[in-house]
Amino acid sequence: YSARYFDILEKRKNLPVWVHKEEFLQTLKENQIVLLVGETGSGKTTQIPQFVLEAVLNENPSSGPKGKKWLVGCTQPRRVAAMSVSRRVAEEMDVEIGEEVGYTVRFEDCSSSKTVLKYLTDGMLLREAMADPLLGRYKVIVLDEAHERTLASDLLLGLLKQTLISRPDLKLVVMSANLEADKFHKYFIGVPLIKVPGRLHPVEILYTREPERDYLEAAISTVIQIHMCEPPGDVLVFLTGEEEIEDACRKIISKLGDQVKVVPLYSTLPPAMQQKIFDPTPQAVRKIIVSTNIAETSLTIDGIVYVVDPGFSKQKLYHPDTRVESLLVSPISQASADQRAGRAGRTQPGKCFRLYTQKSFNELEKQSYAEILRSNLANTVLTLKRLGVKNLVRFDLMDAPAPETLARALDDLYHLGALDDDCNLTKTGEMMSEFPLDPQMAKMLIVSPQFNCSNEILSISAMLSVSNCFIRPRGEAQKAADEAKSSFAHIDGDHLTLLNVFHAFLQNNQDSDWCYEKFINYRAMKSAVSVREQLVRIMSRFQIKLCSPGFNSQDYYVNIRKALLAGYFMQVAHLERTGHYLTFRDKDDQVVHLHPSNCLDHKPEWVVYNEYVFTSRNFIRTVTYIRGEWLVDVAPHYYKLANFPNSEAKRVLQKHYKKRKLSE
Ligand code: ADP
Ligand code: MG
Repeated sequence: YSARYFDILEKRKNLPVWVHKEEFLQTLKENQIVLLVGETGSGKTTQIPQFVLEAVLNENPSSGPKGKKWLVGCTQPRRVAAMSVSRRVAEEMDVEIGEEVGYTVRFEDCSSSKTVLKYLTDGMLLREAMADPLLGRYKVIVLDEAHERTLASDLLLGLLKQTLISRPDLKLVVMSANLEADKFHKYFIGVPLIKVPGRLHPVEILYTREPERDYLEAAISTVIQIHMCEPPGDVLVFLTGEEEIEDACRKIISKLGDQVKVVPLYSTLPPAMQQKIFDPTPQAVRKIIVSTNIAETSLTIDGIVYVVDPGFSKQKLYHPDTRVESLLVSPISQASADQRAGRAGRTQPGKCFRLYTQKSFNELEKQSYAEILRSNLANTVLTLKRLGVKNLVRFDLMDAPAPETLARALDDLYHLGALDDDCNLTKTGEMMSEFPLDPQMAKMLIVSPQFNCSNEILSISAMLSVSNCFIRPRGEAQKAADEAKSSFAHIDGDHLTLLNVFHAFLQNNQDSDWCYEKFINYRAMKSAVSVREQLVRIMSRFQIKLCSPGFNSQDYYVNIRKALLAGYFMQVAHLERTGHYLTFRDKDDQVVHLHPSNCLDHKPEWVVYNEYVFTSRNFIRTVTYIRGEWLVDVAPHYYKLANFPNSEAKRVLQKHYKKRKLSE
């Protein structure tokens, strides 16, 4: 081992979990499931899996199933955490990442046959369970951050409860920062709980007297004030997403210049940049980390003394009426606010600046709702069906979703052709479940060869799966950015514009300078290329044909638009005589507006859209022009059966049905 190894080892031994090492291992030896609760930063994520690994290797010196090595798996709700923590642990163990210690996240696998400790997102472990329901290679699974109650981790808990019965030799450790102890105890009756007391210093909490109008500006000026008036100590600012964070970083740098080191942290940041948050700063320089929720409990950064908490995060919300799921900047819960404040007291007494009033704090929800209660369940149902769960209602979940939500999900999947009349998974449904995508996108890919354009649909799907590729700076450069964007614009729709960007990126040899000139996000484009490669692999596994209409063919774009509709036929809107668009789903319609980012040159009668955005108004974003008669072609049953209240669009559709009948 290197000298650095022993250096780090000394530090590790000081982490609170080390005091409980023997107790923990003994408890794990005697029980199949163990719950462990410990304050953020106590060493759960980095140390516990190593303890477990040591025990597993001691007890199973020979290799595991089919001559392969036994695995210890540790799940994380966030890909950044899985990547960053596994790197740290590889360093602690003095090995190369991807060898003994590895990680697997959606669209990226950094593990090998040598791997014995693997960090992976909870979603990835669910996928592995689809292929191997008994999770045969795992000896111990550590389910981390259980308090986050992500959809995938809730499903994993339900699934593992069953798996543990069929696999008495498999063990489960459930870890969490602050557990709703009652809930977990009810769910895991009689399971031992180990508590690791944290070492938190007092944190002084300061509220604003009046509500802030613009939390971003307020956050920036608070940082500047801290830097000017407060003694040394690093600052952690919580914001909601990439654009906001980059914007804030630029503004802080322009105000404070070289006196500070400003580091952004969000999920799409490349790993090398993510590591920067851990770099030590020179004595006189203050580090300012501007982060999403990732820094709330997933990643612990030492040396933070000041926390700036505007009180918001991006959260998934589900609108049962429209069945649309959307990410929305929403107020956090009291539990989250307290976690955030706690980040200021890790190494010394600290301060937390809450950019809201004490009264608003009191009005926040105590805990955030489990994600399963805020989700469109179509994907979940597909996953559960694929996992062989027969009776969804009886599946043991900590929080059961509303029966209507479940029923609607079943209905959607039926219309997408994933389930048959008896609610069993069809061949198409089985294929759909193999794509790490929403069911509609999966369906679109599967049927795309029928429209002779699977290559194009692959590129569009890849572009839709990564973050927004268009950079739109505020201020002077904005006009130039908009002009650059308009050079890619396709007047028939944003999906086609995305396709143009993708093609242009390839034609320009994936050049980063080109991206810079064109205000295109280079990282997003690189991810799109890699996502596409992986989708191609899944397509070829099912022998789904890769094809393109000839570019000169008259129907090139028509085919692509039809294929889009074949997946997303439930997401269309109709332009009413009032001049408004109405979404078009059974029993409910909503007035929506085309998002200002759209590239259309006119307001078509019908559009298909990719997502809903709720801000000051209801927007549909990424929209493409389609024709009403195509609806009758691609989803005849859906549109015939649905009982639409929207009479105007209904009449139009009936006309199309009639025409179709006549032509038959
Ligand atoms: P918990 O899971 O209980 O919140 P962790 O195991 O994540 O705690 O963190 C334990 C310690 O390891 C913390 O002091 C943290 O700062 C340190 N640590 C974690 N990741 C890194 C990293 N990439 N580089 C340096 N230190 C790290
Ligand atoms: Mg942790």
